[in-house]
Amino acid sequence: MSKGSLLVVDDTPDNLRILSQMLTEQGYIVRKALSGSRALTSIKNELPDLILLDINMPDLNGYEVCQRLKSSQITEKIPVIFISALDEMMDKIKAFKVGGVDYITKPFQIEEVLIRVEHQLKLYKLQNQLNQYNQKLRQEVEQRKKVEKELRLSKLVLQKTNKKLNTLSIIDSTTGIANRRHLNKVLLREWKRLARENQPLSLILCDIDFFKNYNDTYGHVAGDRCLRIVAQALKNIIHRPNDLVARFGGEEFAIVLPNTNQQGVKTIAQTVNATIEDLKIPHAKSTVSNYITISAGVTTQIPQYEQTPQNLIHQADMVLYLAKQQGRNCFVTQNINNTIDQNSI
Ligand code: GH3
Ligand code: MG
Ligand code: MG
Repeated sequence: MSKGSLLVVDDTPDNLRILSQMLTEQGYIVRKALSGSRALTSIKNELPDLILLDINMPDLNGYEVCQRLKSSQITEKIPVIFISALDEMMDKIKAFKVGGVDYITKPFQIEEVLIRVEHQLKLYKLQNQLNQYNQKLRQEVEQRKKVEKELRLSKLVLQKTNKKLNTLSIIDSTTGIANRRHLNKVLLREWKRLARENQPLSLILCDIDFFKNYNDTYGHVAGDRCLRIVAQALKNIIHRPNDLVARFGGEEFAIVLPNTNQQGVKTIAQTVNATIEDLKIPHAKSTVSNYITISAGVTTQIPQYEQTPQNLIHQADMVLYLAKQQGRNCFVTQNINNTIDQNSI
């Protein structure tokens, strides 16, 4: 296998012949050039691994050839060893300044040339390997950065999607408040927690009065708008973090009030009736008011482990029915001892 490809440049044919013969014998592939310009053409055709370059030549001298090589990205890395009879200190300095890597003085010792060539070729190869390795490393770092960025973006999208799905799964789209599924979940959670704490849990079940008439009179779209306004108004009444207003179904809403006793829930139920009528949503086909009103069933219980929140809902539904019977736009409470208080408003 060849030890490397060299280009020897010298305007003296004898020098050129001796040097190239000697290097060929040592296992190098050697090309020859008798002038600076021929050297440049030869290099352009095929890049050598190293150039042995004479300084004193008639057309382009060695310094000029070297400067041209160093000014092109394609050839700048090829090591240039100057070989010259000029033995002045200043020449050596200039040789290095224009980009030469070494300098051999004529007449040369063959061993010296071989050692210097070998040495520079080895450096050149190592430098090439290092450059390739660095480039690969840079590419890997870039690739890694790209993948990391994609990962960050995907995580963000996933988070947003999850959040959206989460919101969608608990919100009723017509009214913008919690849906029945979320109500059930919260009710069960609070039921268990308050059973442990032996604290009261109150529930207000609200139902819009004569809502069928409202839809028939004003249309379904107005009906939906009315549901939304009532829902948001109910939501604005409650303030504690564990309180919840949810759509129970149709034109019915549930208000969950943990740690709230009978006295407390009565106050809120009064506020509920008053707030909805105060919205002054015209309702020409209501016999109880000129505006939209609601009836409410109110229950308060200290949750028991052996029972379920369905018990609370059932009781609230029963007293809501009584509120309707009593004339609407009012609430009826059923207290802890199962006694019914119908003089609620
Ligand atoms: P009451 O005072 O006894 O509660 O009478 P009501 O007419 O309110 O009760 P009823 O149960 O007879 O009718 C409820 C109406 O609510 C019937 C239905 O058209 C309307 N409704 C239920 N869900 C929706 C909804 O999502 N949008 C609209 N616009 N109307 C709804
Ligand atoms: Mg109803
Ligand atoms: Mg109704």
